[in-house]
Amino acid sequence: MIENTGQEQDATNLCDYCQLTETIPDLSVAGNLQKWYDLEVAKRRLLYLLDNLGLPYGSQMEQFVLPLSFDFKEDIQPVRWGSIKIGKEEKVFTGHADGKITINLREADPVEREKLRVAFGETQRTLIGHFRHEVGHYYWQLLVQGKDEQSYKAMFGDHESPTYSEALDLYYKNGPKLNWQESFISAYATMHSWEDFAETWGTYLDMYAVLDTAENTELLEMPG
Ligand SMILES: [Zn+2]
Repeated sequence: MIENTGQEQDATNLCDYCQLTETIPDLSVAGNLQKWYDLEVAKRRLLYLLDNLGLPYGSQMEQFVLPLSFDFKEDIQPVRWGSIKIGKEEKVFTGHADGKITINLREADPVEREKLRVAFGETQRTLIGHFRHEVGHYYWQLLVQGKDEQSYKAMFGDHESPTYSEALDLYYKNGPKLNWQESFISAYATMHSWEDFAETWGTYLDMYAVLDTAENTELLEMPG
């Protein structure tokens, strides 16, 4: 189903990768076609890597246990008519919930993304990086939750205490843990054990992608 634009399509006509996108932006808005295109390119790069690594995922149509899907949405501002607001304001948060990866369209705007990178003091902020991070949350739910939480806790710490919302409040109040460089992959990884896992997962995929490119351009020969 393609929401927002009223452009409903029969998903059986779409390829395996395209049918995982459930919501696309309003293409009547100038610039949105390019942003959607850039998001789909990043999504395909992610799925190519997952296929290469043999990681499981599937769609609702295939009746996969935790179906993976994508929403590409933008913040909706109510229309102002004098002092009257028409319509509801909707803020879109980039994130993962039960197999659904949502990316705010703003991230596909290089100028906006750079502003956010500077505001959050990050060394890098990329579209593909968002996909690689969010899919880490997906794989936590698919492969770790209720299956291997003890060995997970031994490595990434307790995800139940503090709770995610407690940890989030503390992080935005106090900032990252001191000397995080000694034991975390990024400042954001110190926020909560789930973010540590997702940041680590995303970085692993970054490294794998670099090696895959090096191998395909014959800069490097990979074993096996
Ligand atoms: Zn996260």
